[in-house]
Amino acid sequence: MAVLKADAAERLPPGLAGPGLVPSNEAMHELSIAEAILQQVDEVVRQSGQAGRVTRVELSIGVLSGVCADSVRFALGLLTEGTELAQTEFRIRQPGAECVCGECGQRTPIDDLVMACPQCGSSEIAIQGGRDLLLESVELEEGRR
Ligand SMILES: [Zn+2]
Repeated sequence: MAVLKADAAERLPPGLAGPGLVPSNEAMHELSIAEAILQQVDEVVRQSGQAGRVTRVELSIGVLSGVCADSVRFALGLLTEGTELAQTEFRIRQPGAECVCGECGQRTPIDDLVMACPQCGSSEIAIQGGRDLLLESVELEEGRR
């Protein structure tokens, strides 16, 4: 198995991440993201100069990225059907976000955007993490033997 670490993770084009914080239910949105992911996979494999079937692709889709991981998985299934990526396993990690309070100093894990600190109710907060939309790694079956 050759694991190609997308160097410091290939960040997908920002335009494709959508407005970021606004959850979208548009299937087209996830479909274009899935297309971009497949292009990136292609690119990573090409740049590595290695041959072989892609066995696994690891993605990171943050809980606040505005992208529905299930829809992306579904779109990837549609797009890879009948292609050489049909057997590829797409693993999607969904990193969480934290609300960091400037008032009480608490860091609280969150799944949704919050407007105030869940601990003390202060609005002096910063939201950290959870916005990733990354291609993390591409795993190849050893090619030519
Ligand atoms: Zn607080």
